[in-house]
Amino acid sequence: MKTAIVTGAARGIGLATARLFAAEGWQVALVDRDSEELARVAPGIAQGFAVDCDISEPDQVEAMVAEVIARTGRIDALVNNAGIADFGPIEQTDFARWRAVMATNLDGTFLVSQVCIPALRKQGGAIVNIASISGLRGSTLRVAYGTSKAAVIQLTRQQAAELGEYGIRANCVAPGPVRTKLAMAVHSPEIIAAYHDAIPLNRYGSEEELAEAITFLASEKASYITGQVLAVDGGFESTGVGLP
Ligand code: NAD
Repeated sequence: MKTAIVTGAARGIGLATARLFAAEGWQVALVDRDSEELARVAPGIAQGFAVDCDISEPDQVEAMVAEVIARTGRIDALVNNAGIADFGPIEQTDFARWRAVMATNLDGTFLVSQVCIPALRKQGGAIVNIASISGLRGSTLRVAYGTSKAAVIQLTRQQAAELGEYGIRANCVAPGPVRTKLAMAVHSPEIIAAYHDAIPLNRYGSEEELAEAITFLASEKASYITGQVLAVDGGFESTGVGLP
């Protein structure tokens, strides 16, 4: 049975993605640092199991990947979804906040990918990194978050260029706004209204809509797609309108 690792799977887009992988017959490692929430949701997913891990901690990442391989013997897909949001302009973003965002969004994505590569190389596989439309545009509010997500997009291209010869594809999904805990913590009523106006489909996306795109890119259906950024954003990116 194919095995997928989904980081940040205790809730939101990651949880929806883990559920969809399982529904499509994959075995799924649900990885998160929120062990309480993880323990609550993982038993509800047939073929799913929980692994506690803070992806910004190298030792924890090594132990997590070793546990997945010990349980399943293989890794066929890795979804680097765990992320944290931070809204602030440059002069109001202290270095500790900047580092915390980079540690999870960028360092964690790099680390988990690096440690999974030997297992992915065995039979080939796919990496799907979750960036954001905030990584595709400049904005007055997202110096740390937007920069981390732009770096994740470039990391995806590096991975695609380097790992193609081993049969490993790497793609990136750039979500538009989705009503998860992460987004709702930073989206004011004004930002929500502005997104509704600016998005051609006039609404936020759902976790399930993101999961469909992520599992597609991880699957054999996307066997000739690598190095791409897919904006799943109701058309926002196509308009050229600035981020609210
Ligand atoms: P969420 O906050 O609902 O879920 C994120 C999960 O990641 C949480 O369970 C959290 O505990 C976990 N996590 C955070 N840091 C971690 C770490 N260091 N180690 C392990 N787990 C960690 O968020 P979401 O909205 O589902 O976001 C998922 C991804 O989608 C993120 O990368 C986010 O940046 C991206 N994204 C979300 C939106 C949106 O509007 N929701 C838009 C664009 C991009």
